[in-house]
Amino acid sequence: MTTAALGQWVRRFADLVAQHRDELTDLDSAIGDADHGSNMDRGMQAAVAALDENPPATSKALLSKVGMTLVSKVGGASGPLFGTLFLRVGGSLGEVAASTPQELAAALRAGLGGVVDRGKAGPGDKTMYDALAPAVDALDAALSDGADLSVALQNASQAAAAGRDATTPMQARKGRASYLGERSVGHQDPGATTVALLLEAAAGSSLGASGSGRRDT
Ligand code: ADP
Ligand code: MG
Repeated sequence: MTTAALGQWVRRFADLVAQHRDELTDLDSAIGDADHGSNMDRGMQAAVAALDENPPATSKALLSKVGMTLVSKVGGASGPLFGTLFLRVGGSLGEVAASTPQELAAALRAGLGGVVDRGKAGPGDKTMYDALAPAVDALDAALSDGADLSVALQNASQAAAAGRDATTPMQARKGRASYLGERSVGHQDPGATTVALLLEAAAGSSLGASGSGRRDT
């Protein structure tokens, strides 16, 4: 898995967020303040522009740039949360040009840890955690079973989508949606929806291209 493949993942995620911007904002209008789609789209467009301007050579440099851009350009909960996710994934991968699938899985777990450190959400709180944690677990499980990275990322993407769907019947206990109490039940969480797009982008990018687990690729 190369730094170039990480860049492709980020760009694909930005494209998916742009395509789903109105849907994400509609979800946030039901249980929040109707800004999630525009927040994430603005942030990811700025992140891609920053990468275009000065293409980073290492995984840490690339993902730190994305994370810092989200933290600085996006207000509300999601800027710092998604920003921290990218910063931690990059920090875990380090100043390298390629990583193994296991290193990518460990980095995503570190990213999940960053989201928890910042937002203090756990299972069932109806947040992005509920899509991200199952995805990280599925990635680890598939790699432990000997799956190659492309298959493991497909599993992770499916787990994120299932986690996203599972937020609908939950009552929010974190973030703005928690102010609604029982009225948050019956609506899909916007942040979990964005996490499912992040994993869809990973599964559809060249991250899992064959040979990607080798350090010399
Ligand atoms: P805001 O709520 O500030 O308007 P956004 O609308 O951009 O920010 O993002 C809302 C999303 O952020 C929620 O759908 C949820 O997934 C996520 N979120 C909010 N608070 C937390 C938290 N404490 N931990 C994890 N995720 C959270
Ligand atoms: Mg909002």
